[in-house]
Amino acid sequence: MVDVVVVGAGIMGSATAYALACEGCDVTLVEQFRVGHCHGSSHGRSRIVRLAYPEVEFVELAKESFAGWRELEREAGVGLLELNGLLELVDDPAQSSRDALDSAGAEYELLAAEAAWQRWPVSVPDGWTALFQPEAGIVRADLAHRAFVDRAQAHGARLQEDTRVDSLDELAAKAVVVTAGPWVSVFFPDLPVHTTRETVAYFKRDGDPLPSIVQLDPVTRGHAMYSLHDPVHGLKAGAHHAGARIGPDEEGGPDSALVERVAEWVARTYPDADPDPVAAEACMYTTTPDEHFILERRGRVVIGSACSGHGFKFAPAIGRRLAQMTADIL
Ligand SMILES: Cc1cc2nc3c(=O)[nH]c(=O)nc-3n(C[C@H](O)[C@H](O)[C@H](O)COP(=O)(O)OP(=O)(O)OC[C@H]3O[C@@H](n4cnc5c(N)ncnc54)[C@H](O)[C@@H]3O)c2cc1C
Repeated sequence: MVDVVVVGAGIMGSATAYALACEGCDVTLVEQFRVGHCHGSSHGRSRIVRLAYPEVEFVELAKESFAGWRELEREAGVGLLELNGLLELVDDPAQSSRDALDSAGAEYELLAAEAAWQRWPVSVPDGWTALFQPEAGIVRADLAHRAFVDRAQAHGARLQEDTRVDSLDELAAKAVVVTAGPWVSVFFPDLPVHTTRETVAYFKRDGDPLPSIVQLDPVTRGHAMYSLHDPVHGLKAGAHHAGARIGPDEEGGPDSALVERVAEWVARTYPDADPDPVAAEACMYTTTPDEHFILERRGRVVIGSACSGHGFKFAPAIGRRLAQMTADIL
């Protein structure tokens, strides 16, 4: 009997297997497809990392995660964070992350649209404010995912790909971690999560990488549109929480109406990018009602559902927390 089976080798399962293996646990990471597949939530070349959040707890979790990414970079010998900052575009500065950043002692600048334009080729809507926060940018998602898996294996973890776990009862392990992403509700239908198929589009843009952008919806205060550097095409952009609800095994690709909406926003926002998309892809969000994460223990099982469309940046910290919860079972 192994100590721990981790079900699901997306970024959360991989980070958890790494943290467990570093602690000397005997761990097997099981994945129904192959690491890096494009049916879940973790594929792609980049994700936004940022300290800027309206909730202090997320600012602190992001700080801890930055340190975790740096450790992984050192251990794997690969650059993962590219920090070009973040522009949070808001109709009203009161909606920005400034209060939480103040509480966390993190620096930022508030810029009027014209002042932002003087620094970057980014068009901020008239009358809006751009909060610039330097500790942000992108994490090289595919490299980070690979690094967690490789380093977990280097510390003794086993990886079993092309293996679907049908029942947790069948697993001969002292503890089980379920990091099944959109499939978590197959195992736990009572969890308050729903799954959507989201669309991202890629645009050709040359020149130095710009800060990542999140544009807030003035009514909900949630993110509406976002963009970030893509190492191949130059720019990746999407509409947040805009996709249709689906089941995790439903086949389907990017939504052309959303690609069009994103392209219109890119045309308005980036005068130096080609507004014709060069590629688009789909990716799943697994979302809780308050967009926080589920880290929960049920007997010998630990559940890690950390998405709601913003989980990737926190993977080092989430992996450690899930590993700690698992260690308490052993
Ligand atoms: C379009 C998009 C943009 C995003 N942008 C950002 C961003 O900019 N910044 C950010 O921080 N976050 C972002 N996120 C969120 C982030 O990517 C997710 O929070 C994260 O990838 C979730 O990882 P996961 O490991 O929980 O899920 P997944 O990556 O889906 O991994 C779950 C894995 O479990 C496997 N699995 C499921 N069931 C079984 C089974 N029965 N047996 C074996 N294996 C199984 C699946 O095949 C899958 O590989 C974005 C997400 C999307 C979709």
